[in-house]
Amino acid sequence: PFGSIPALVLAQAQERPEHTALVLGSTRLNYAQLAQGMRQAACALQQQGLQAGDVVAICASTSVPYVLAYLGALQAGVVVAPLAPSATAEHLSAMLDNAEAKLLLRDAEVAAQWPLASTAERPCIALDDNPQAGTRWSDWLAEVPAGQAPQPIQPTPQWPFNLIYSSGTTGVPKGIVQSWGMRWSHVNRAVTNGYGTDAVSLCATPLYSNTTLVAVLPTLALGGTLVMMRKFDAAQYLQLAQAERATHTMLVPVQYQRLLDCPAFDQTDLTLLQNKFCTSAPFKTALKSEVLRRWPGRLIEYYGMTEGGVRCELHCHQFPDKLHTVGRAGPDADLRFIDEEGQELPKGAQGEIVGRSAGMMTGYHRQPDKTREAEWISPSGERFIRSGDVGQMDADGFIVLGDRKKDMIITGGFNVYPSDIEAVMLQHPEVRECAVIGVPSDAWGESPVAYVVTQPGSSPQAADLQQWLNSRVGKTQRVADLVIHAQLPRSEIGKVLKRELRTLYASQAS
Ligand code: ATP
Ligand code: MG
Repeated sequence: PFGSIPALVLAQAQERPEHTALVLGSTRLNYAQLAQGMRQAACALQQQGLQAGDVVAICASTSVPYVLAYLGALQAGVVVAPLAPSATAEHLSAMLDNAEAKLLLRDAEVAAQWPLASTAERPCIALDDNPQAGTRWSDWLAEVPAGQAPQPIQPTPQWPFNLIYSSGTTGVPKGIVQSWGMRWSHVNRAVTNGYGTDAVSLCATPLYSNTTLVAVLPTLALGGTLVMMRKFDAAQYLQLAQAERATHTMLVPVQYQRLLDCPAFDQTDLTLLQNKFCTSAPFKTALKSEVLRRWPGRLIEYYGMTEGGVRCELHCHQFPDKLHTVGRAGPDADLRFIDEEGQELPKGAQGEIVGRSAGMMTGYHRQPDKTREAEWISPSGERFIRSGDVGQMDADGFIVLGDRKKDMIITGGFNVYPSDIEAVMLQHPEVRECAVIGVPSDAWGESPVAYVVTQPGSSPQAADLQQWLNSRVGKTQRVADLVIHAQLPRSEIGKVLKRELRTLYASQAS
């Protein structure tokens, strides 16, 4: 059955008006207050002339007004396009144009780095009440007559719900249209994961990311308490988890690492925080087993993409011998593997992962060519989404994930997978992180080069590490160069940005 997320939030406010809905910084809102803020935002959007199906862009740090504006847009049927404040001004302008947003909600920090004048065609609202960013949020809401209710909407599963831009890890972000039905499928999944009125869900990733939304929206729809952090900090996270008695959390791999490394970790009582989720980027086998050992409870890894279709899950606590995989296809997902020519491969062969499931994007917004490129049509005519990731299914149906196709290195005609080389380098006791990229080579077309972050307190020589590595990998996998680096460039949700490393290497070589 299909349901509406804003309607559920309103129902929660009727049934449990006093129950804490949102904790953010020093602010605590109960469900009555949350519903009130949501209603005001919905009315303000409609008063501004936005109708169901119109797009509002939000580009700001996590804040209470951000959450209220999001919910208000949903109640008004307005499509939310959350943009990453960390994106370049060029990408932001491209996203805003692609979205054809009628209104931009932002804060002063964003306005300073991306100076866009507020115009009649595209007014700006300042979520942080700073007039530098636009009309003050509080003034904007104050224009809504007291007690006014928004025009009711009748969403169907096909309606566009949000327009989310892909992370831009491999290029310019693509606008992904997610439907109300797709979002609803996440609520259903959350029910099976124990989200409900007793859940206290702690989130410390930014609101523009699908990773955050899969936890935030179901938490509120199902009447739980959402605890958010404006910015992740390991020590603060641990304090908050204990003080708020968190039961559920969605974290990206690098955050698990930071938490385990934090001196306060072993003194923090996390026995209530039984439901831990992880997604977005490679979650190293050793890190998963360390989390299982030091932080008991359920640990579920998801492998998927904002586009939907591809959906895998690994219940790490149940399959300790499968931690090198990303688990099996989710209950409603169908995964296949294809070769370079788009032919389906036999079971067990390595190839590009394609998938289809209940929650799948309709397409990239106003990019029919990119949409077609992202689709794979099976011989029997079903529509699958291409992941761009290489993988292989083991005999038990678990998926061993390889690299992104775009990161694969072709050297002297051989395909070399960076992750194979990285895995060997990580066995060195003085190596903490490693990323292998392909760099242009006259002799081989491309050659692998390793960037290494060393363990704190150790200072190995690059030449020694390179020799150590090259004596343990295959001939085509030997790295032509090894650079010791203070830290790997990562996106805000913890993805290693290999394209930045390639640019860095090129600029240093020239
Ligand atoms: P873009 O498509 O703009 O380059 P992106 O693919 O990083 O960005 P997302 O939709 O946020 O954008 O991320 C999906 C990708 O993240 C997957 O294709 C996969 O490469 C990676 N990923 C997701 N979950 C996992 C996981 N559990 N382990 C390893 N990689 C993962
Ligand atoms: Mg992608």
